[in-house]
Amino acid sequence: MREVSDFDSTEELRNYTIGLIRQIGLCSSLAKQNPMAFHYFKDLFLRHPEKERKGVLTLTDISIRRFPKTNPRKQTLEVADYQFVVHQADGTEDTISWNTCAKGEVNPVGKKMNWAMRLAIEGQIREFKASQKGKACELCGSYEKPTADHIKKFKDLKDEFLAAHPNHPTEFAKNEYAQEIFREEDAEFVREWLEYHRTNATLRILCEACNRKIDNYGSWWV
Ligand SMILES: [Zn+2]
Repeated sequence: MREVSDFDSTEELRNYTIGLIRQIGLCSSLAKQNPMAFHYFKDLFLRHPEKERKGVLTLTDISIRRFPKTNPRKQTLEVADYQFVVHQADGTEDTISWNTCAKGEVNPVGKKMNWAMRLAIEGQIREFKASQKGKACELCGSYEKPTADHIKKFKDLKDEFLAAHPNHPTEFAKNEYAQEIFREEDAEFVREWLEYHRTNATLRILCEACNRKIDNYGSWWV
């Protein structure tokens, strides 16, 4: 299961959320029936521009209902037919638009940092793939489109490293493809990050399909 803070773009966040809604369907209590999804949607709702008024800060449960305007004879619901409701401890409730929450701006510094840190380790990823040439996917045995998968999640490595280096860069340069990279004056920070990643990253070969499945939905879904 991914985290709301994990995404580099609004579109990615939106698509992932749509996937989750399709999987969950109607639900009278996310807190009881799907605690991980409860945590995810609570985080998502914190992006609502009026989160205080919507009661997101104090919600105790979230339910997913059929949108009242949906044709009652409709058998297969689409994402737009689901309505999210936030519940308070005193029994009051309010509807909330997950789409409004998803549209909010992704933390710009965090987003750039994520890019720069990912690009910085690309050399290590290439080295690993070269050293594993000819190996099959560890999950399904396929030789199709091998990718390097972080067994310990990249996001966790990144967050641990940043927590240990609180004075990290907040400004970035761009490479020839207009991607965020670290500036020359941050070479020492980059050196430490590369060393940290080389020491702590655990990688394995997965085919692209398995890698995507893990990243998008997490094994707890199946
Ligand atoms: Zn596979």
